[in-house]
Amino acid sequence: MAVATLDDLLAEGVQGRGLLVRCDLNVPLDDAGVITDHGRIIASVPTLKALAEAGAKVIVTAHLGRPKGGPDPKFSLAPVAAALGDKLGRHVQLAGDVVGTDALARAEGLTDGDVLLLENIRFDERETSKDDAQRLALARELAALVEGADGSPGVFVSDGFGVVHRKQASVYDVATLVPHYAGTLVAAEVKVLQRLTSSTERPYAVVLGGSKVSDKLAVIENLASKADSLVIGGGMCFTFLAAQGASVGTSLCQEEMIDTCKRLLDTYGDVIHLPVDIVVADKFAADAEPETVSSDRIPDDKMGLDIGPQSVKRFTALLSNAKTVFWNGPMGVFEFPAFSAGTKGVAEAIIGATGKGAYSVVGGGDSAAAVRQLGLPEDGFSHISTGGGASLEYLEGKQLPGIQVLES
Ligand code: ADP
Ligand code: MG
Repeated sequence: MAVATLDDLLAEGVQGRGLLVRCDLNVPLDDAGVITDHGRIIASVPTLKALAEAGAKVIVTAHLGRPKGGPDPKFSLAPVAAALGDKLGRHVQLAGDVVGTDALARAEGLTDGDVLLLENIRFDERETSKDDAQRLALARELAALVEGADGSPGVFVSDGFGVVHRKQASVYDVATLVPHYAGTLVAAEVKVLQRLTSSTERPYAVVLGGSKVSDKLAVIENLASKADSLVIGGGMCFTFLAAQGASVGTSLCQEEMIDTCKRLLDTYGDVIHLPVDIVVADKFAADAEPETVSSDRIPDDKMGLDIGPQSVKRFTALLSNAKTVFWNGPMGVFEFPAFSAGTKGVAEAIIGATGKGAYSVVGGGDSAAAVRQLGLPEDGFSHISTGGGASLEYLEGKQLPGIQVLES
């Protein structure tokens, strides 16, 4: 990959230069607007810290959630600016707009080592526009924020790994306008993905869960032919169980995917492993009464919310001798403690394999959140990725626009 890195940029010198850094600061917030998981903020710190310490004028752009139709206080980056300042150990100003008068004035007022966060980039609808000209217009305004007083071009640093699969103004288009570099996070993530797709040490075990089969179908297709075992849990296992002819009660099931799952089971039957028991309940709620049943005996009025202990045991045995493990998607509704044992058990099995020398990667925002929420040691895994969708698209074999553009 012929991509210029942060080290290249630091070697050129950044003192007094305007830099635009795209970060992924899309953290989960609770109803009161409090950040419930700081993972992505923490992951953004190394690049920002290095640049601020080297005396750059750092302008950060990021999105939060999916605001529709312009600015919406509910999606303001204000809590993120405060938390980022905290983790960075220096004040982070927040602009009141994206590329408006406040952002311009603040950008002009920056001194060496200052950090300015622009308001939620998705408040400007051009960010995600399908119209190339619209996106390019926003990208030009972003680039103008970091232009030198003498008209010299600013610099773009791409460090929002979670968005590099998106062809958006602050991810893709801006990199077509100014000199661009991969931040440390993006460079590290790409290296990990290359390791999962090229020189993979065997046995290679892939563990997939989460809510929808349709989200992960392409990755199942692509990895089933590469992995030695593909373990399926979470909400997506019920479409596979249904494809085997089991009745799945009121569990999450994508009827329209049953035929596809049948075909996958026909082709990769030896590789795919499904749960043998399921923890069911009569409703989707934290206080629902859990009951463990065999996976071919789910009562009609019950829904599966976790994999059962026998499944954890089997999956643990499969994982115990793996040399490479990729895990994406919780095994159950881990947000409810009564249905978190499957996710915890499988995570512990992966940590165990890692302890014996396996190379393990956790991909997916919710999976990473589960690791932290369940009190598992983050350093028990070789790598926890910050970008669910981006990792999956890479593993599907797709080109990521935000990476490709850095190569040119
Ligand atoms: P990731 O972000 O790690 O890629 P996903 O977004 O695909 O994972 O899925 C995570 C969600 O899947 C979690 O919120 C979890 O509650 C949900 N989930 C897991 N198992 C089930 C299940 N049996 N029924 C419904 N939802 C489930
Ligand atoms: Mg998710």
